[in-house]
Amino acid sequence: MNYNVHVNVLKSPTKEGNMKVKIGKRFDGRPVELVPHEVIPVDSLPKCNFCEKTAEFDFKTNVGPWANGCEQHWRMYRGHRELGIGKGQLWVDRKTVEEVIRVG
Ligand SMILES: [Zn+2]
Repeated sequence: MNYNVHVNVLKSPTKEGNMKVKIGKRFDGRPVELVPHEVIPVDSLPKCNFCEKTAEFDFKTNVGPWANGCEQHWRMYRGHRELGIGKGQLWVDRKTVEEVIRVG
């Protein structure tokens, strides 16, 4: 993978239970942990299919087809409340992704 990765050591990484996690930033700056099939890094974010905002979600709508949506329109039209395979994904800009060591 070709992430722009910075490693921030929060505490001693030698302690058992530590794990590396990847943290990206939402469009509004909120941090979010990357999760396979749920929170995915992408090179660019498309526009919402329902308004002029940037789409952060790729999701199955409550009428069947998939759509790209901003948070407001994801909440309005989503077929599932949660993310995952067959339900939806949250996209984060790959450039914001950092690798962080979480102390267990
Ligand atoms: Zn929208």
